[in-house]
Amino acid sequence: MNITQFSTPLLMCALLAACGQSQPPADDTAAAPESEPATELVVYSERREPLIQPVFDRYREQTGVTVRYLTDSAPVLIERLAAEGADTPADIFLSVDAGSLWQASERGLLSELDSAEINRVIPANLRDPDGQWTALSLRARTIVYSTERVEPGSLESYESLADEKWRGRLCLRTSKKVYNQSLTATLIERLGAERTEQALRGWVDNLATEPFADDTALIMAIAAGQCDVGLVNTYYLGRAQAENPDLPVAVFWPNQSDAGVHVNISGAGIVAESDNKAEAKRFLEWLVSEPAQKLFAEVNFEFPARTGIEVHPLVAAWGEFVSDPVNVSVAGQRQAEAVQLMDRAGWR
Ligand code: FE
Repeated sequence: MNITQFSTPLLMCALLAACGQSQPPADDTAAAPESEPATELVVYSERREPLIQPVFDRYREQTGVTVRYLTDSAPVLIERLAAEGADTPADIFLSVDAGSLWQASERGLLSELDSAEINRVIPANLRDPDGQWTALSLRARTIVYSTERVEPGSLESYESLADEKWRGRLCLRTSKKVYNQSLTATLIERLGAERTEQALRGWVDNLATEPFADDTALIMAIAAGQCDVGLVNTYYLGRAQAENPDLPVAVFWPNQSDAGVHVNISGAGIVAESDNKAEAKRFLEWLVSEPAQKLFAEVNFEFPARTGIEVHPLVAAWGEFVSDPVNVSVAGQRQAEAVQLMDRAGWR
């Protein structure tokens, strides 16, 4: 969905997808006094409708609060928030990348979460060091390989995909995708710019074909024999495996004896100009509750941001892994540097 205009509550109601379920509960038909909590929240979401609708529906069932939403890419939503300023109807900005959350915060579009509960249950490296956004789920960007042509023992680390033995065997997604920019940002943080550039040049030299527009196409290229290894977010493999359990593509967890697997987040913050900050905070605190965490992650084969929550059986089958403990805000802080470096290395 790409909604470019709405100016009145009525028009917004006509356009937003949750509108059909926007009626207040039957026992709440009288006009609420002004001191009552809001019965409606508006989320600007980069996360797609099928992944948020079930979660928002559950919240409405439990609290009577309707969550309306608008979906688009993070850059579009960020520009929209900036342009709307104090007039924005948005209460929450929800993104699928830590770098995008960092940018919204840098632009002054978010406010302090100031939630003891969120601070208690979400690990500190998955939250904004300045307290303006939090992870809701984790997505691991890892190595996938052909079970027909690759011995998992021949794999090791992100940087070792630059080895000559992978010449003509590697598939990558385009460097334009923020997921790859965030991965590169964390490599720079860990290895320094010079070694990261060496690794990326090696990857480019090893490409079997032009970079793909999406992770699913990359997984299918491995299955089809076009390449043998690649880098993807695991939930794309989860979706593909759910459709075809016999897909000859498997997960490998790299860097298990050093840096760990690169993880990114889907997360959210409260909009600085929201008129419903208290209700928005209650909603985010509900989203980090155990049942909501399970639902939020499970609909997309992701990992809950809160520890100790059971994952989908298909996800559990990939096994446990050590993840990079660096604060995910590095993805934002080093994004510009990462984009330049990818360009220098010839990653298109
Ligand atoms: Fe994605």
